[in-house]
Amino acid sequence: MNYTKVFLRPKKEESLLRFHPWVFSGAIQSIEGKPEEGDLVEVYGSNNRFLAVGHYQIGSIAVRILSFRPITIDASFWTERIRTAYNLRQALGLAGVENNNTYRLIHGEGDNLPGLIIDIYAHTAVMQAHAVGMHHARTEIAEALKEVMGDALHNIYYKSEATLPFKANLTNEDGYLLGGQEEDVALENGLKFYVDWQKGQKTGFFVDQRENRSLLEHYAKGRSVLNMFCYTGGFSFYAMRGGATVVHSVDSSAKAISLTNKNVSLNFPDDPRHAAYAEDAFKYLDKMGDNYDLIILDPPAFAKHKNVLRNALQGYRKLNAIAFEKIKPGGILFTFSCSQVVSKENFRLAVFSAAAQSGRSVRILHQLTQPADHPVNIYHPEGEYLKGLVLYVE
Ligand code: SAH
Repeated sequence: MNYTKVFLRPKKEESLLRFHPWVFSGAIQSIEGKPEEGDLVEVYGSNNRFLAVGHYQIGSIAVRILSFRPITIDASFWTERIRTAYNLRQALGLAGVENNNTYRLIHGEGDNLPGLIIDIYAHTAVMQAHAVGMHHARTEIAEALKEVMGDALHNIYYKSEATLPFKANLTNEDGYLLGGQEEDVALENGLKFYVDWQKGQKTGFFVDQRENRSLLEHYAKGRSVLNMFCYTGGFSFYAMRGGATVVHSVDSSAKAISLTNKNVSLNFPDDPRHAAYAEDAFKYLDKMGDNYDLIILDPPAFAKHKNVLRNALQGYRKLNAIAFEKIKPGGILFTFSCSQVVSKENFRLAVFSAAAQSGRSVRILHQLTQPADHPVNIYHPEGEYLKGLVLYVE
């Protein structure tokens, strides 16, 4: 190990001593030499005490820590981290099993690889860098993936155009690092989904709702279901398998609706219980009747930044208020927020205000979060982002 050295201001080493994986730019006293964005650096505290090694970046988070030990970041480092993550997914019963081949393999800080996301869809890994250092390491990471996953892996698609900081001025490098298959059918708890990683949102599918979809299946029998913000229909198929009488899937994206319809034909061909509509959520909710007794609200992140938090909370309140107003007595509402800056308490408060506005009696049945393949590093509580409530509305 012989990387550029970064020295912290006095008293700024506390968080690293507690294994928090970020160094903020304001904590830096001096830098020896001139690291480029994405370079590996060593971080030192007072009395020249070694603290960590990580990726350097220009911005508020200046270093993302890869190790708190003085190690060289080489091929064996990547293989070891990816193997650890893969073993965990096997232990969770998500990898190497018959009825599921869709899971998150690397969840950034949660897998001790800040700035890296890897989702697996059948024989394809979709890799997303949120930090320049991970972008530079992408070929090494791909090699490590091949070594750990062997023949099971046919394609690696790199998709970081939208997630890398624009300041880094990188050219668009999206493309295949292995194979070249354009879409695949992924299996989640025995249900099939077309995943289009090139044109689809994020890495192509929302893997993080798997367990919440499973829970919904248990509540679906005999119910009339509205899956609002359905994307490719995830919740809808669990509802159908669970015995729902009617399932309506709604999303403002026509592409999402066409994928939902494709997924209906994969799982429940010609099933008359399902219909999909490409429409804006608020428009649909305003004009829909009061026939639904199971409603899912899984909107996109209303707040991507702290300074729009107030507006976001208003958004969640308004959205949920319409659902409370229209859901049938005895109805069940699955409501979510995936905004990292919206805390569990704030989200609950927004939903509480919406319930109060409707004047209905509402009880919390479940409090939901992200599944175990999106682990939260205990030293990095910011990694907890998905919040959900299952509510019984009288
Ligand atoms: N529930 C989905 C994931 C939802 S992601 C799943 O389980 O896979 C959020 C979705 O909201 C996206 O598909 C996006 O197209 C859709 N969306 C964004 N704004 C919308 C709006 N105003 N009305 C309806 N859908 C919207």
